[in-house]
Amino acid sequence: MTTSTTTHQSLPERVEELLASGGPLPIVTAGEPVLRTVAEPYDGQLDDALLERFVRALRDTMLAAPGVGLAAPQVGVPLSIAVVEDAAPGAPESLRARGRVPLPFRVLVNPSYEPEGDARAAFFEGCLSVPGWQAVVARHARVRLRGQDEHGRTVDEVFTGWPARIVQHETDHLRGTLYLDVARTRSLSSNEAVAEYWSQPTPEAAARVLGFELP
Ligand code: ZN
Repeated sequence: MTTSTTTHQSLPERVEELLASGGPLPIVTAGEPVLRTVAEPYDGQLDDALLERFVRALRDTMLAAPGVGLAAPQVGVPLSIAVVEDAAPGAPESLRARGRVPLPFRVLVNPSYEPEGDARAAFFEGCLSVPGWQAVVARHARVRLRGQDEHGRTVDEVFTGWPARIVQHETDHLRGTLYLDVARTRSLSSNEAVAEYWSQPTPEAAARVLGFELP
């Protein structure tokens, strides 16, 4: 039997402890229970100053990783908060195929989404909590995202293209869902294999060779 004082920490204490290191936060990986837990709705558990510092640390951690999104449970904090930002680097042909356009930094608080229309888009994606791997996920091409921002203002916005993929991936984290749960598992590829074989703008060749269905 093991005991830990951290079990009895309040959320603000837990966050203060994480921030005390001053650097990027450690990202937890698949198998950690917090990644399979429905995050608590954010309702002022952190005061404004602590929330601001936490959000800044989430952003620093995401950029350092580097990644285009990070949810609070990925740093061990079970609150419904995520950050997203994508400068959309890459080859023009790939960017065009993915609808990958720059997504300015933003904070998603208590987000939820619903599809707008039936269109789906399938591409390889990865997750900072499943390092080294990527898989094809067929996601809604267009979603309506509702929730709040970090100042408590209402968000109700439609996302398309790659930004739609990012907000779905991060919102799923807050429900305890990992992208592997909704991926074409036969597409699972190491980063090395993706670089070697599957860097085409679309995953059609991968679907043919690895044997999985595209929408
Ligand atoms: Zn992820």
